[in-house]
Amino acid sequence: MAEANKGWAVCSVCGKEFEIVGNRKKCCSKACGEERSRRQCCERGKARYRALSPEQKKELAMKRKQAKPKKVKGAMKPKFQNELARAAAEARKHGMSYGKYVANCEGRRYG
Ligand SMILES: [Zn+2]
Repeated sequence: MAEANKGWAVCSVCGKEFEIVGNRKKCCSKACGEERSRRQCCERGKARYRALSPEQKKELAMKRKQAKPKKVKGAMKPKFQNELARAAAEARKHGMSYGKYVANCEGRRYG
C-alpha cells in the first residue's frame, strides 16, 4: 500500500478521524476549522476573564450594562416634522393659528 504514508488525524472539533489533505491538519472540514478558530477566540477571552479578580469582574459587568445603546425617542423623525412642530410652537407664541402664522410669514416675505 503506497498510499499508507498519507497522514490521518483526529479532528479537534468533532473528534472524527480524517485524512490530512494539504494544509488541513487539525480539522476534518472547513466548517470544523471555523468552529475551531471561534472556540480558540472564545477560550482566549474566557482565560482573560478568569484571570480577573472578583472586583474586576463586577466592574466589567457594570460596564457592559452601561454600554447598551440608549434608545433616543424621536431620533428617527424626519426633519420636516420637527420644522412643522417648531413653526406651530412659534405660531402659538404669537397667539396665531399655524395657518395664520404661515400666511403672515409669506405675506411679509412678499410684501
Ligand atoms: Zn470535524
